[in-house]
Amino acid sequence: MGTGVTRSMTRAIYDFIWRHEPATKNEIAAALGISLPTVSKYLTYFAREGLIDVGSKLSSGARGGRIPIGYVCRDNGRFAIGLDVTAERTRCVVLNVRGEVLANRRTPRAYSRDDDYFRFLGEEVAAVVAESGIEERRILGVAIGVPGLIDEASGVLYFGRVIDNLGLSIADFGRYIPYSSRLVHDSEAAGFAEFWERPTDTNAYYISLGKSVGGSFHQRAASHRGERGLTSEVGHMRIHPQGRLCYCGRYGCMDPYCNSRVLAASGDGSVGLFFERLRSGESAAVRAWDDYTSDLAIVIHNVRVMFGSRIILGGDVGAKCGPDLEPLWRKVDDLSFLPSDSRSFLRACTVTEYPIALGSALHVVDQFRNDPDRFALPRSRTRGA
Ligand SMILES: [Zn+2]
Repeated sequence: MGTGVTRSMTRAIYDFIWRHEPATKNEIAAALGISLPTVSKYLTYFAREGLIDVGSKLSSGARGGRIPIGYVCRDNGRFAIGLDVTAERTRCVVLNVRGEVLANRRTPRAYSRDDDYFRFLGEEVAAVVAESGIEERRILGVAIGVPGLIDEASGVLYFGRVIDNLGLSIADFGRYIPYSSRLVHDSEAAGFAEFWERPTDTNAYYISLGKSVGGSFHQRAASHRGERGLTSEVGHMRIHPQGRLCYCGRYGCMDPYCNSRVLAASGDGSVGLFFERLRSGESAAVRAWDDYTSDLAIVIHNVRVMFGSRIILGGDVGAKCGPDLEPLWRKVDDLSFLPSDSRSFLRACTVTEYPIALGSALHVVDQFRNDPDRFALPRSRTRGA
């Protein structure tokens, strides 16, 4: 941080420019109640950090007077990396501060709990950085989306059965990654990507209907994570006592009824093929969707009465089910104790391409947006930025 530049003012000015670009010195000074020389000092600091550009010269000034300069946040001022780790492949993306994807890499590789695998993750990050051609010193950090529950205080996974990651932390996953790194719960990351796309939503509950079921709850003002990150584990909501065995070891959880494999079983292993068969009216697929939506409706009803928020269906199923929600809407409305129009609050996701890697990286971008000073460039190397 430069001399005389405070963190709170850095954040306030950067945020103002972000929301009002192109923003002039006068506008910044008036909005934040600070002097023009102070604004200039911060703009100099931002320019040195490579965080802003001179945008268009505004022609709204009086004729013959000085034309005010509008400042904009630099798209490629900083970069974030998101990594999605699953049982059978990794996905790695590079974003700029606007959340635009600059590089995107998918690599088939079976997860294994060993040093070779963690070394592979480091190589994947290096590869995606090289593909993107970005300056390394502008990398804010890496967020790795993993299935499992992460204790926020210790950063250790204390529930990890989808892949064998119980007891691991960023010290393991990030061992060969030379940037600031952290773990993110995969369902939270995917929900965050969806929420990011809809800045007008005040809150949303995201249900990830993938090979396992997860969830996350998002609020514009603050995220709700619960104790030790235990919130929205909707996959283990009990809907059929003495029902099917869940991977968690208990019976009757929602997961074995609503994970995407249930539908894929009627599509030769493919969720996409299942929906094709459903739409062509194949009776086995129609029956499977009827059972599936009956179980899912229970969970959606429960979530709705608890959170009263919008509900978004994600994961493999959410990415495909948009045109087929009619029976689900009807069943959810039938369960409601109030007059209900679930079309107004229940929808399929719109972020269907690699939402976990994307949402993980967006977490890093969001952290930067809320506090740009946390990611000041290394002092000795800022010259010539
Ligand atoms: Zn369970």
